[in-house]
Amino acid sequence: MTTDALEQRIRVLPESVINQIAAGEVVLRPASVVKELGENAIDAGAFHISFWTERGGKDLIQVSDDGVGMSPIDAELCFERHATSKISSAKDLYHLLTKGFRGEALASIAAVADVHLFTRRHQDMLGTHVHMAFGKKLLVEPYRCAAGTTLTVQKLFYRLPVRRKSLRSDVTEHRHNLQEFFRLAYPHPDRHFRYHHNGVLLFDLPATSLRERILALHPEVQPEDLVPVDETTPFFQVQGFLVLPEATPTQNKDGFLFINQRYIRHAGLQQALMQVYKPFFRGEQRPLYWLFLTIDPSQVDVNVTPSKTEVRLLKEMEIRAMLYSIVRKAVALGRLTPSIDWIEKSTESISSLPTENSIASSANALVQEPRIVETPLSPTVNECMVLYGRYAVLRKEEEVWLIDISRAYQRILYEQYLREIPVSSQGLLFPVHASVSPEQAAKLAELISDLERVGLRVEIREGKEAVLHSIPVGLAPAIGGVLLEEVIRLAGEDLPADWRPRIALNMARYGAPRPPYKLSAEAVDALWNDLMACTDSMRTPTGKPIRFLLTEGLLERLFG
Ligand code: ADP
Ligand code: MG
Repeated sequence: MTTDALEQRIRVLPESVINQIAAGEVVLRPASVVKELGENAIDAGAFHISFWTERGGKDLIQVSDDGVGMSPIDAELCFERHATSKISSAKDLYHLLTKGFRGEALASIAAVADVHLFTRRHQDMLGTHVHMAFGKKLLVEPYRCAAGTTLTVQKLFYRLPVRRKSLRSDVTEHRHNLQEFFRLAYPHPDRHFRYHHNGVLLFDLPATSLRERILALHPEVQPEDLVPVDETTPFFQVQGFLVLPEATPTQNKDGFLFINQRYIRHAGLQQALMQVYKPFFRGEQRPLYWLFLTIDPSQVDVNVTPSKTEVRLLKEMEIRAMLYSIVRKAVALGRLTPSIDWIEKSTESISSLPTENSIASSANALVQEPRIVETPLSPTVNECMVLYGRYAVLRKEEEVWLIDISRAYQRILYEQYLREIPVSSQGLLFPVHASVSPEQAAKLAELISDLERVGLRVEIREGKEAVLHSIPVGLAPAIGGVLLEEVIRLAGEDLPADWRPRIALNMARYGAPRPPYKLSAEAVDALWNDLMACTDSMRTPTGKPIRFLLTEGLLERLFG
């Protein structure tokens, strides 16, 4: 970069390009100013960006950044209409990577407000102060200021009483301002944002990861509710997070979609996302997600409306279909993850031991290797180890027990389902359908409220079809079909008095997490304690052994 004070980066666009730019009102309300100034700061490569607003932006909107700043010439030029440093020809419109490109924002803002610009390039000793008011340049002077740019906007719409009157209450305008602030803060977690209103620092968001940025802006979202999305397709790449249907705040109104780091609205894409969630929602609830699509800029037309929030996608149908299946998969997988506490989330505490008799061949080797787990502060179990991903060997004082983990789960879940009524349920992404005879339908109809209490929501359609809509929380959706079959079989029999244990048994059998298990010492300890709390901790509901005590006698017999 040159230190030439006359350096001019901003040019007024030729008429031919201007005519190709979506024309219209840029400044509709204070939030438009918040958005445009914030975008300029990001385009200027700023790392620290601070916002100040007063009375919902009606009295003041100020944005300060430590970006590249402007030369004295550019400081004046930036207020010209169609003056921009970001594009120079029409073909640049198809390679946009900056937020701005129309060179209209500052001109429009300066036309309807009292504006002060303070700017200095990092290589310059002195900066520039420009004062514009309602379209007139009132002052240009050299100015001692920090490197970067500060724009101060006051008296918005003072000369336009009708406009000013059409503004909503301070609170409402403030809400719109914050909304724009959020939309800038999500896609740039690597930059430090601050937001002050009426002198109070409301948000201080140091540079961080996307996940942390989302959590900082959404105290209502629990970290474990964020399901990551990261897929690459031939047409685009998508990354981000979504909140599973059951964890979505009921009052949620908005998901957040970004293309090339720009917040956008796109009815087609939003509809595709809504389609995934629709079966779970009632009323006006909307899905909550932060999805960032990266698409070749030549395939995206942002030059549709002045606010640049509507976009046109050249490959809309393809992108829509792919996005739908990506999100559907993410939701289904996210819901599959067992939500049972004692399954460890990370396996870091497990160290694998090399084995002499290497059991498994390549693919399974990692998960099936016997693993030893040190017990740090296990109150019940003194030492334990998971073998072949299926059995736990644990020492309790002088006793050594061998446990079939899968069977232990079955017993624990079985008793839990029997005990915990009503059972909380989760909606199925794909409800299960089965045809039934009129008699079965009639009997099922009688059972409906009982079934609901064990977490199964069944609907009878036209007396000939049974539809299973939800299953107990924690069960894999895949077992829906098995459960519905069992329910129908039960309805066919002469309603045995104890149908509940049979349902519970099926849930336990098919719903238990599958091997291989990777359990931490705490998880094994919890498993043991849960098992001990069962009415029968030795056998599964169908009578198979769950655990053996490795007695001296047993070992003697083993060795003959
Ligand atoms: P656009 O962003 O579409 O180019 P604007 O009217 O928003 O149009 O800004 C005009 C020009 O002023 C920009 O192209 C840029 O060169 C310069 N500019 C505006 N804000 C800043 C800033 N915060 N830091 C550095 N340069 C800026
Ligand atoms: Mg701009």
